Amino acid sequence: MRGRRHGPSTTSVHGTPHRRADWSPIAPPVQQSSTFVSPVGSDEDILYSRYGNNPNQVQVAKKYALLEGAEDAIFLASGMGATALAHLAVLRPGDHLVSSSWIYGGTRRLFDEELGRLGIGVTYVAPDEPRLWRKSVRKATRALFVETPTNPLMRVVDMTPVAHVAREFGLALLVDATFASPINFRPLEHGADIAITSATKYLNGHSDVIAGAVAGSVSFVEEVNRLMRLWGQAIDPHAAWLVDRGMRTLALRMARHNANGMAVAEWAASHPAIARVHYPGLAAHPDHAYAASVLDGFGGMVGLELAGGPKAAERMLKRLRLVAHAPSLAGVESLVSEPRHTSHKGIPPEIRAAAGIPDGFLRLSCGVEDAEDIIGDLEQALGR
Ligand SMILES: *Cc1c(COP(=O)(O)O)cnc(C)c1O
Repeated sequence: MRGRRHGPSTTSVHGTPHRRADWSPIAPPVQQSSTFVSPVGSDEDILYSRYGNNPNQVQVAKKYALLEGAEDAIFLASGMGATALAHLAVLRPGDHLVSSSWIYGGTRRLFDEELGRLGIGVTYVAPDEPRLWRKSVRKATRALFVETPTNPLMRVVDMTPVAHVAREFGLALLVDATFASPINFRPLEHGADIAITSATKYLNGHSDVIAGAVAGSVSFVEEVNRLMRLWGQAIDPHAAWLVDRGMRTLALRMARHNANGMAVAEWAASHPAIARVHYPGLAAHPDHAYAASVLDGFGGMVGLELAGGPKAAERMLKRLRLVAHAPSLAGVESLVSEPRHTSHKGIPPEIRAAAGIPDGFLRLSCGVEDAEDIIGDLEQALGR
């Protein structure tokens, strides 16, 4: 299955390196065309950008498949598009899905509102109780879903018991590893059948594109492609070109995100105004040992709880200069947001707090700036 013949940095830049023809461009051209000239009398598949066979769409998908060590991959118009079509590809009305309960808010709503409407039942399990995976499997169960590392507590879900249950019952295991990127974690190496990523985040990395991708077997990607054509979820060629361009520095950026995440987490852990730090690279994190054994880097996402609570958090946010207060993550610029106003909006405060996300919890996405400057900005914003 693993097709990665070169290192991740080489693959990020080139996909599969090949000798270039004389006078060919080093940077691939954007083929911003909806359609292409068809040979007369041919019954081959037509080239049409909604079909995902525009050269920019094909090129970026090949590169992502190599990075995930998958047979094939496909890009969609958003991360949500990727999650939705991946599930529609493996589930039919009457089927049942077992999902981790620590998942992106949009995914949770997709499962509850849309899969439910299609007659697909979903059972949620707390992934820190691995025995629940097996207990939740029914006759109609067809798939398991995991997101790792999780938002915003940066928990790293133990894949071993999940993969075991998937094998034993012949279930498809889908894993959204957006927070890691394939540089830090490749789900298919840990028993997953399908990797899902919001390419809006680390893959593109420049906060200027909405895109998603899935990777897996040839037959799975064929089915997602079929659904994509019918549900109209293809990525635009220009967006595909931008993601491909962003991916050329993916390995390089991840190295800096990993270093900056670690530096900020260590600084925060020793700061008297910060009560708790959530970062899997810290020895105090509940999943540190497991994370260290499966991740190639701990990433740039850091959860912070201030000693002064929500008031202190608001004061700090208003004083930041370099770090912008904005949702989303994984771009070159550092961003911070409050889950209570973004990913966990609408959840009552006491339920949020019980889930480990009290009011005033800050989710920091460390960019690729100089670590001292990110820390300097956080330090001055804390006051004194
Ligand atoms: C952002 C995100 C998504 C959704 O991606 P979009 O590109 O915004 O549609 C899904 N899963 C995770 C973990 C995310 O962070």
